[in-house]
Amino acid sequence: MGTRAGRAAEAANDAAAGVCDTGPGTAERITAGDITADVAVIGGGVIGHGIAFEASRAGRSVVLIDDAPGSGASWAAAGMLAPVSELHYQEEQLLELMLESSRLWPEFAAGIDAGAGIDAGADGTEPRAGTGYLTTPTLAVGADAADRRALADLREVQQACGLTVEPLTVREARSREPLLSPGISCAFDIPADHQVDPRLLIARLAGVLGAEGGSFVRRRAAGLLWQDGHVAGVRLAGGGSVRAAETVVANGLGAAGLGDLPAGLALPLRPVYGDILRLRVPPRLLPLLTATVRGMVRGVPVYIVPRQDGTVVIGATQREDGPSGPHAVSAGGVYQLLRDAQQLVPAVAELELLEATARPRPGTPDNAPLLGRVAHPDGGDFPGLIIATGFFRHGVLLTPAAAAVCRQLMDGTPDPRWAGFRPDRFSRIPDTSGDSPKKEAA
Ligand SMILES: Cc1cc2nc3c(=O)[nH]c(=O)nc-3n(C[C@H](O)[C@H](O)[C@H](O)COP(=O)(O)OP(=O)(O)OC[C@H]3O[C@@H](n4cnc5c(N)ncnc54)[C@H](O)[C@@H]3O)c2cc1C
Repeated sequence: MGTRAGRAAEAANDAAAGVCDTGPGTAERITAGDITADVAVIGGGVIGHGIAFEASRAGRSVVLIDDAPGSGASWAAAGMLAPVSELHYQEEQLLELMLESSRLWPEFAAGIDAGAGIDAGADGTEPRAGTGYLTTPTLAVGADAADRRALADLREVQQACGLTVEPLTVREARSREPLLSPGISCAFDIPADHQVDPRLLIARLAGVLGAEGGSFVRRRAAGLLWQDGHVAGVRLAGGGSVRAAETVVANGLGAAGLGDLPAGLALPLRPVYGDILRLRVPPRLLPLLTATVRGMVRGVPVYIVPRQDGTVVIGATQREDGPSGPHAVSAGGVYQLLRDAQQLVPAVAELELLEATARPRPGTPDNAPLLGRVAHPDGGDFPGLIIATGFFRHGVLLTPAAAAVCRQLMDGTPDPRWAGFRPDRFSRIPDTSGDSPKKEAA
């Protein structure tokens, strides 16, 4: 592990050689060449940035590789930190990871703010404006009688898992949120589901990383770099490489297409598209809401997330076919979101539409991430390689947990609770030995 001064010198040398830059927003200055660091992270979404930040604050030198950081699923995400509302049947192990991450969020956000020089507040409980991290609660509301029954059934499952979901009368809900429709059928208070602003989060993480000597390579990773049977870094598209003791594959849906993955490693990722809207609330309607509203409207989910800056985010669509490309917004999706949000909060019709965005979420067959090391056919794990992808609907919530899991793996102290998320759980690793990866299909 390099010293901080050594890392800074390395980064400076690399920058001088025109190999990398030291912060987002700077012009691309890449030429072929080699960079060396303790940790190379492929992918600059919330997950890659979170892992790089955690490694850096643990004293490791870090290089983050992405030709378009922050432009993937993280660009679309609403930023709900919602382990309770996101509980699904038979996903108990995922719930444990979501609750762990939720527990880690306050310290994680405070650490980013501290790194950015933002005062966290005297008692440590102030909202973290730096990342938009807010501990405001969530209200689950239903539109009709069937929605009320569905939310009541879900509450039974949530309670059986020890989660707090308290019923409110419609009058109580409307006294807290006066712009909720009087026509809603039910409301439940979920105090533990919070929010962060993913775009702010990535910007802050990149800023702190840059200030701490981390480097950013604005190029695509072509594949893994192998040496003597272990992963020794990253081959860059167009030439050059990043050499590192640990390489973290955190490039979302792109992970499965990365070159030179270990033979037999299947990363069964699939795109699950989501449309999302950003709207400005006119001053006369502020605050539109103080809590996040997660609605069920004739069996279809919709959420409205109020931001500190007077905007709201409306989303919830899920489709597996993109209209014409990964960023194409579905007209039907937009219609459905506005129609259902307006049924719960009629004033939505009076907001200014700022943006409609669509992105694919990195889904997996069991909706759980692919997170950890990869088994070596000779026993043990491939040295120098960690996979962190497949975060599907929960990547923002799970960022601190993913970062902590990766740090523990790098420290050689993995937490056995998370072994079920190993990235090779869908793979048939061939029972062979050898120093270089074989490109067999799984
Ligand atoms: C509409 C919508 C709403 C959502 N709402 C929430 C929410 O409220 N809460 C929540 O927790 N989650 C939410 N999610 C899910 C969340 O956005 C994802 O789980 C999360 O963003 C995944 O982060 P990531 O860093 O793994 O991937 P991404 O954000 O997709 O980042 C991957 C990065 O890898 C880069 N990359 C790809 N290939 C390469 C390569 N070869 N070399 C270098 N770089 C490469 C890309 O440029 C990209 O920047 C939502 C998702 C969507 C689409």
